[in-house]
Amino acid sequence: MNISLTKLEQLYQLPFNELIKKSHDVYRRHHTINNIHLCGSLSIKTGNCPEDCAYCPQSVHYQTDVSKQALLDCNDILNIALRAKTHGVTHFCLGAAWRHVPKGNTFQKVLEIVEQVNRIGLQVCCSMGSVSEEQTEALFEAGCSTYNYNLDTSPEFYSNIITTRPFESRYQILQMIRKSKLKISCGGILGMGESIADRLKLIYLISQLSPQPEMVPLNLLVAIKGTPLEHEPFIDPFEYVRIIALARIAMPQTIIAMAAGRHQLSFETQALAFFSGANAIYIGERILITPTPDLNADFNMLKKLGMKAHENNLDIRQ
Ligand code: SF4
Repeated sequence: MNISLTKLEQLYQLPFNELIKKSHDVYRRHHTINNIHLCGSLSIKTGNCPEDCAYCPQSVHYQTDVSKQALLDCNDILNIALRAKTHGVTHFCLGAAWRHVPKGNTFQKVLEIVEQVNRIGLQVCCSMGSVSEEQTEALFEAGCSTYNYNLDTSPEFYSNIITTRPFESRYQILQMIRKSKLKISCGGILGMGESIADRLKLIYLISQLSPQPEMVPLNLLVAIKGTPLEHEPFIDPFEYVRIIALARIAMPQTIIAMAAGRHQLSFETQALAFFSGANAIYIGERILITPTPDLNADFNMLKKLGMKAHENNLDIRQ
């Protein structure tokens, strides 16, 4: 049975060590311990997005240093994807700054990119904005395995962050994607000024999807100059670990990823997050357009912790 919001609130009140002990036990029961999924990502179309997400430098509403980039050439994408594969990446996310996945020729190009990236042996995840039922079908047929569609934050806090689309339509589309053949990656961003209650509600709502998402990326705000959140203080790292722990308890089988903003965390905090149940990271030069830690530093950290890359794909359901 899915977890209740009240239960999440009770768990959140536990002393830190008790909470992470509980989430570690859940993690051990459902996953191969010390194995980590390595994910890569690439922004294949950057900037000029009509949405106004307050954290995002790709929105047309804000003046930022992000260079706009039309849809990249398929060969360039393949070269980057191949390089990621040599680093042990199994899951590769293609991100595009669109409100809706476009139709016509551009969509045909997207399908070709998906097919080519999948052909080199990577699981393809697409993160391209709202998508129609027909498009989920076509993406699946082209070799896309997962669609990323984040809820970002709680319904109550949502309008502080995004005004160009309502939370309700976001949630409806998410449910439509859940019914498609695609797996779901659905997470949020922490540290945007939301309350603890907002964070718990976000985890609660994501965990209510049926079946639960195959992957939950938990991002940390990267406060970027020119966006409305540029002066937002960094979240208390213990808070981030607590939310990872709650997500692990609420979604035992799901892959919980430390996603954007991980470069702002110490190795020690990341080690606590792994202990609490995080079992995926994004490596490489960037996660879409935000920085990632240095690749060698990541590999050193994993070595020190005795963790190794997961060789299997994301489909861990029994
Ligand atoms: S987060 Fe995505 S939808 Fe929002 S402004 Fe950025 S690119 Fe557009």
